[in-house]
Amino acid sequence: MNPTDSDETDETTAASVGEPEGEPISSSVAPIYERDYRFMARAQAAAEEARAAGEVPVGAVLVRGDEVIATGFNHPIGAHDPSAHAEMVALRAAAQHVENYRLPGCELYVTLEPCLMCAGAIMHARIARVVFGARDPKTGACGSVVDAFANPQLNHHTSVTGGVLEGECGAALKSFFAERRRASREARAAARADAEAAASDADVKDASHSASPANTATPANPGIAAADE
Ligand code: ZN
Repeated sequence: MNPTDSDETDETTAASVGEPEGEPISSSVAPIYERDYRFMARAQAAAEEARAAGEVPVGAVLVRGDEVIATGFNHPIGAHDPSAHAEMVALRAAAQHVENYRLPGCELYVTLEPCLMCAGAIMHARIARVVFGARDPKTGACGSVVDAFANPQLNHHTSVTGGVLEGECGAALKSFFAERRRASREARAAARADAEAAASDADVKDASHSASPANTATPANPGIAAADE
């Protein structure tokens, strides 16, 4: 893919993709096929496993011919592993499955545009084709931030198709972050309410203490009491 072709691809796939039927949706060098929607749906199911684990919902499937040979979902937090992105997990599982560190002729479907780390691993594995869903304006390495695959000195093996089920893949991520923001707002509000209730309890106690001075006993030696804590 030369740089001019890459630009065309970006413009075409940045537009909303149509219905998953019939002719290739895109007339550019990176057409979208009906099977792309089918395998992206499998990647979306893997993304839901990440969501269930409380991780950013990104899923991937590794396909050889018409067979899914591995799936992976994003779980860097639970795995204590910065490399546990969906693509890396699927690549590792597929390589174990075929007992080969290279996966020529395979396609990788992932719900979010791969990052630079995953792009590098995809190239090392000699993946033939990458199909991704939503674009990632923060870390996307297929044209959004950098275009690793457009560099012919780096990439001789992998073609890239973006924007397959882009709306749905993006909506899954948006709903996850919206839910996380809502949960964090609720946690802050609950903490605030607890603090206010505690303050109000303290006021009541202070009031009762001032009404009954006998209750305001202080430790015989406050310095020792504090040191024991
Ligand atoms: Zn990645």
